Amino acid sequence: MSGPSGAGKGTVVGGVLARRPETILSVSATTRTPRPEERDGTDYRFLSQESFRALAEIGELLEWAEVYGHLYGTPRRPVEDALAAGHDVVLEVDVQGALQVRESLPDAVLVFIKPPSLEELEARLTGRGTENAGTLARRTEAARGELEHVDRYDHVIVNDRADDAVTELLRILDG
Ligand code: 5GP
Repeated sequence: MSGPSGAGKGTVVGGVLARRPETILSVSATTRTPRPEERDGTDYRFLSQESFRALAEIGELLEWAEVYGHLYGTPRRPVEDALAAGHDVVLEVDVQGALQVRESLPDAVLVFIKPPSLEELEARLTGRGTENAGTLARRTEAARGELEHVDRYDHVIVNDRADDAVTELLRILDG
């Protein structure tokens, strides 16, 4: 799953996990500092640059990329174990990450979640209150860039109403 921050990926994925508990959500590693409500090991594995790079070097990351000046990556082992046990695994990754996943796991289904408009996205990011003005501008700009890659995805969901977006994602998973 990809989509600009503020497009509602977290809400939509949360809704899907609640309705389909056998689906596994991958916990990414990142060098970003935690937000106040975030917990290490649940929201992300928060790592130093050094530890992150060490994981990447020994091939323990399925994909990784620099996003908004920080490193983010998917630990390989939990994904492979969950797939081997017959679960569907959801990754929330940026466009660079999604394309790397498609290379290493050709069965991967790439889904892009779009906000109804860039104006709506900006309003959501402002409302969330976690971003300062500089970060907000950077994220809106990055969103513009991400939206240019939407045609590389297998499915595009416009997240206008979260319930509808959840239903659509469930349909894709069941397919
Ligand atoms: P945030 O800092 O808001 O938690 O995440 C910012 C962005 O980082 C997300 O929208 C997503 O695109 C990207 N991201 C999060 N985890 C990963 C990951 O494991 N790999 C990659 N490539 N991108 C990620």
